[in-house]
Amino acid sequence: MIQRTATRIEARQTDEDSRTWQQLLSSSVTSPEELLERLELDPATWLSGAREGHRLFTLRVPEPYLQRIIPGNPSDPLLRQVLPLSAETDTQPGFVRDPLQESTSMQTTGLIRKYQSRALLMVTGHCAINCRYCFRRHFPYDENRLSPQDRKQVLATLANDTGINEVIFSGGDPLVASDRLLSCWADSLAGIPHLRRLRIHTRLPVVIPQRVCDALLAWLAESRLQIVMVIHANHPAELDTDTQQALNRLKQAGVTLLNQSVILKGVNDTARVLADLSERLFECGVLPYYLHAFDPVEGAHHFEVSDDRARELVRELIGTLPGFLIPRLVREVPDRPGKTPLDLFA
Ligand SMILES: *Cc1c(COP(=O)(O)O)cnc(C)c1O
Ligand code: SF4
Repeated sequence: MIQRTATRIEARQTDEDSRTWQQLLSSSVTSPEELLERLELDPATWLSGAREGHRLFTLRVPEPYLQRIIPGNPSDPLLRQVLPLSAETDTQPGFVRDPLQESTSMQTTGLIRKYQSRALLMVTGHCAINCRYCFRRHFPYDENRLSPQDRKQVLATLANDTGINEVIFSGGDPLVASDRLLSCWADSLAGIPHLRRLRIHTRLPVVIPQRVCDALLAWLAESRLQIVMVIHANHPAELDTDTQQALNRLKQAGVTLLNQSVILKGVNDTARVLADLSERLFECGVLPYYLHAFDPVEGAHHFEVSDDRARELVRELIGTLPGFLIPRLVREVPDRPGKTPLDLFA
């Protein structure tokens, strides 16, 4: 870890501190050629595969994340999450485009209601980073852009259903949206008396820590609703000092911080990495929440970790970490009332 940090600081080429998150977002690397050049990877080996994968699901890596990747190492666990490969074009039996069957749970445009007390609001279809393993890589986002009419409909649906006490901003990544839009949603939701919590599922504090700006902190701190933020980090090297500071500021604003990860081959499929991730999260004021078992999404089978291996890893964690640093190993199974825990001792 120490060596890694030193290399990372040397690799820093620009001072992104002075750039706003919007500038960082729009200057993300989106071309395979540029990614390979920046990371000193041989185009003869990587370019044609990167182009093939990129055609299926666009490459997107923001600068602050890019700077945490060690150049010249094709096995870097952060690189692996963003580098398109020709393996993504393979189709395999059992690997499907919508493993969670979300397209059938859309209640009104933009609202996914699977569980009794909470509803997912798809604020935007865009992400700040495109993760190659994403189960939403095939999601028909453009069909779900919300018009003012849709927004009214969503609010009416939520207001009429007293069984819902928590709204989850999801996407895409909801923090790609402006604070003007988000605070407007938060205000409207706070006006619905039976809502208690607003949850935000986002990878942005990890990939562009500058997103945790004064405007965001202001509306989060002011809301009547209790705010829970579930970030998404899969490897301890994703949590650098800038991200740690961003998370500290969120915590100071009264936000409860949790993390979800996906078990991924070549990224975090060892007990050592998972234990380091939990420890690092806790240093940053974040508790591990879910470790998602691998879902068979088309184009991502090269990340597959079997359920048995995932169980074995979590059993190892139980031997080395306090209970509050053990994530719950879960899967989403259609028609169940919540996420399904995998039985570790089956
Ligand atoms: C995961 C998920 C939630 C949140 O579930 P929790 O177990 O409360 O974290 C809500 N809605 C949908 C559709 C989900 O997939
Ligand atoms: S940020 Fe989340 S939703 Fe977006 S590509 Fe990555 S895993 Fe998928």
